[in-house]
Amino acid sequence: MFKASSHPFLVPDDNSFKLKKADTDPGKNAPDEETCEQRLAECVAEIAELQQVLYAHDRYSLLLIFQAMDAAGKDGTIRAVLSGVNPAGCHVTSFKVPSSEELDHDFLWRTARHLPERGRIGVFNRSYYEEVLVVRVHPEFLGAQRLPNGVNNKNFWQWRYESIREHEQHLARNGTVILKFFLNVSKDEQRRRFLSRLEEPEKHWKFSEKDVAERAHWDKYQQAYEEALNETSRPWAPWYAIPADNKDFMRLTVAEIIRDTLKSLDLSYPKPDPEALARFDDMRAMLKDKSKPVQN
Ligand code: ATP
Ligand code: MG
Repeated sequence: MFKASSHPFLVPDDNSFKLKKADTDPGKNAPDEETCEQRLAECVAEIAELQQVLYAHDRYSLLLIFQAMDAAGKDGTIRAVLSGVNPAGCHVTSFKVPSSEELDHDFLWRTARHLPERGRIGVFNRSYYEEVLVVRVHPEFLGAQRLPNGVNNKNFWQWRYESIREHEQHLARNGTVILKFFLNVSKDEQRRRFLSRLEEPEKHWKFSEKDVAERAHWDKYQQAYEEALNETSRPWAPWYAIPADNKDFMRLTVAEIIRDTLKSLDLSYPKPDPEALARFDDMRAMLKDKSKPVQN
């Protein structure tokens, strides 16, 4: 089963992660914009090549989960990191407010239908983690889920974490490599990005009054993120808390983690069996000789 290697932004699995201490800005550690862009381009090309082998190898699938506060840059990161990948081998799904059909099922149902097939990359832009994040901050949303025992059970949130951990472990055991990215933007940088959405006409479409209202719950979200990351970062399904105030650095860091993970899987193109290989010479000769029809 896949196991994450150590990394400066890896959330440890010993419950010691403190969101307040996690950087939102890489500061001087970040290479300049030009270097980041150049390294990103190289990394994206490597990911594209590795994805071809992932597909041919046909043993693993890769699931990338993105969670963040609004305006942290989920969309832009997904676009930048996967821009070189063959679209046939990659599928992005965005999860918004659940539909009534989705609410009529358990909370893992809607995402399970979009899990990547073997050999493919699946990206979740938001995910079942919303069920321990936005729903934790707004427990009134649980009313619409019509759960038989309601929320009165004191273990309610623990059970949700447990369901998620077991789900991810099951997937990992069956060949899904899971990487989870929390794009960690600061409250002040989010304010600046909302302001620029108001000020620049080409960004008006991105502006949402609801997003501004959600800022009032910032501290509750931070608490919910800290707890969720601690409860569910495991070696086979690690969380990375990526500083998100510097977009170039964030995109490069995410791309490097994906590339290094794919490399660590030791993927290879399948080899034809020796009998088929022995027939290659005959086939070559047959194809080269235009006068002869190819025979079975
Ligand atoms: P963008 O704004 O960049 O287009 P987004 O992911 O913020 O992307 P929106 O349509 O603005 O998309 O917001 C989706 C909303 O759906 C978020 O507020 C999110 O918290 C909410 N949501 C997602 N899953 C659930 C869930 N299971 N229960 C309740 N709300 C959810
Ligand atoms: Mg939004």
